[in-house]
Amino acid sequence: MKVAKFGGSSVSNAKQIKKVLDIVNGDPERKIIIVSAPGKRSNNDTKTTDLLIRLYEKVLNGLDYQNKKKEIIQRYADIVKELDMDDEILTTIDETLELYINQLYDKPSRLYDALLSCGEDFNAQLIASYNNSQGIPTRYVSPKEAGLTVTDLPQQAQIIDSSYEKIYKLRNYKEKLIIPGFFGISKQNYIVTFPRGGSDITGAIIARGVRASLYENFTDVSGIFKANPTIIDKPELIEEITYREMRELSYAGFGVFHDEALQPLYKDRIPVVIKNTNRPNDKGTYIRHDREVNSDNVISGISCDKGFTVINIKKYLMNRQVGFTRKILAVLEEFNISFDHMPSGIDNISIIMRTNQIKGKESQVLNEIRKRCEVDELSVDHDLAILMIVGEGMNQVVGTASKITHALSESNINLKMINQGASEISMMFGIRVEDAEKAVLSTYEFCYHGICLKNLCS
Ligand code: ASP
Repeated sequence: MKVAKFGGSSVSNAKQIKKVLDIVNGDPERKIIIVSAPGKRSNNDTKTTDLLIRLYEKVLNGLDYQNKKKEIIQRYADIVKELDMDDEILTTIDETLELYINQLYDKPSRLYDALLSCGEDFNAQLIASYNNSQGIPTRYVSPKEAGLTVTDLPQQAQIIDSSYEKIYKLRNYKEKLIIPGFFGISKQNYIVTFPRGGSDITGAIIARGVRASLYENFTDVSGIFKANPTIIDKPELIEEITYREMRELSYAGFGVFHDEALQPLYKDRIPVVIKNTNRPNDKGTYIRHDREVNSDNVISGISCDKGFTVINIKKYLMNRQVGFTRKILAVLEEFNISFDHMPSGIDNISIIMRTNQIKGKESQVLNEIRKRCEVDELSVDHDLAILMIVGEGMNQVVGTASKITHALSESNINLKMINQGASEISMMFGIRVEDAEKAVLSTYEFCYHGICLKNLCS
């Protein structure tokens, strides 16, 4: 049994929905389908989920929200009309939005989640009903009926482990099942959404729950590129990648697949394939537990992400002081800051975090570190980008670091920091934000094609 998830652009209008159903109905193993809310139909369009956020903002600020509500209903009305369906579903949509607004206007975070869930929920009902009308037995299954019981923290739902037993029972249905992505129901009976992009997470949970042989994640690209296509002209696609590699690449900016979606899959080793709804016969990218390494696929992908802040601390004889790092980390913990990397020397340590983690708290954090750790020097750098070179093959092959540093030095890029964990699955280079694109371009060309981009020297 396969579980297939279709992202927002795949279900953005009637034409796309027909393509999706051709894919779904073309394979009897595709039994359980997870759908997103209608996404953008063109570059200037707005995702339904974002329209729902605007509706929420209007309600919250006591403004007239009727036009925004109409705009949302119109997204579905367009689909209903083009699919030649009965438009009674539009009344249900209107009534549901009003019901949530009336019931939850004094509980803003609950209202937010309830309204946002509507994007996927209405789409799932609509698609199931259309497929049924085409003679294919299909059933809409709500997250509650499916057994998706989640924790009660708004916008940060996490699946409760006992849910999996109930989800397994979805195997018993004879029809094709359409389940809305992006939310579950808490034990307190509230609708709670996953983080943005969270339909991937629903798909992963369902795939694990029914012990699917494959989780197909359909989107608008034919797989995962080896580097960002806005930097590299037509980058190659990755054929196969491990869960660990995917996690590292998503962390550093590869947005095709939600990193939280890997967790349920990883546990039961459910393979994933990222495929293109518009070109379903393309092979796609497989994400699995293990992969074969050969000389051509040592490095899986290269990514670079901006928006990091680094705190640099110097203290003479730091290496001999017991508990020094613990004191620094205690400060971060008290300010609820999570950090990502911590490269160190004998008398210095750098702590790298996403800038949003420390924003608004920086001077207090620094004061506290100064006070408790009696540091010799303390500085902050906001100008950090992180280049990640990711590949399971690196622990079996000698010379990858040398290739990367060669490419970077030929392009005149100064390395502020280097970090590699014991697993040797990724190498991290801290560089200046201005060098980010140049770094991806030069390492991509040198590592994959042996081309040295000397002309990038500035
Ligand atoms: N519709 C939600 C969002 O835009 C979830 C998703 O599409 O995965 O974030």
